[in-house]
Amino acid sequence: MVSKRYYQMMHQAANDGARELAELLLQLGRAAYAEGAGGDLSAAQWAALRYFARANRFSRTVSGFAEFHATTRGTASQTVKSLVNRGFLERARSERDGRSVLFKLTQSARRHLRQDPFDALVRAAGRLNKRQLNDVTGELRRVGQYLEVERDTATVGRCERCGHLLDDRGEYRCGLMEEPLAEVELREICVRYRARS
Ligand code: SF4
Repeated sequence: MVSKRYYQMMHQAANDGARELAELLLQLGRAAYAEGAGGDLSAAQWAALRYFARANRFSRTVSGFAEFHATTRGTASQTVKSLVNRGFLERARSERDGRSVLFKLTQSARRHLRQDPFDALVRAAGRLNKRQLNDVTGELRRVGQYLEVERDTATVGRCERCGHLLDDRGEYRCGLMEEPLAEVELREICVRYRARS
């Protein structure tokens, strides 16, 4: 018969494993963020450039970046403004409603992103083989979903995995925004993303 002590040990081991994973994520997150503070841009400015390079047309706003970067709208606005002043971002009116202001990368920003220090972490992850990458990514995504439930918040995610995405034999459409989506947009990130239930 298995003793109570055995169950306690197993429970303790599972807790230790969960804590080690969470600490590892924190450590990698810190390393990634510190990597961002390379060259003549701050870590927040690098994060904004990356965000606007990958965000879809519904998300290229100051509030979208604030949500993605888990910061206040005021702080996000300062970061975006500094990038506009440096010629890395430019403003455009939303074609959808004609009122909201969207931001897009300039050619200069695209050239700058070729030296993105964050790519060191991307290269390190790229040393895993395809199966390992799929496994790790899938499990981390699952941890992210549990965290969403725990905190009752949503995270920004890729369109191709969104619960609002409708696929009519290769014709893609966003069920929330009621707009067609080009295939290339499926790989972009969106602040309105909701995990499939
Ligand atoms: S399907 Fe989801 S991720 Fe894609 S545009 Fe619509 S809300 Fe955003």
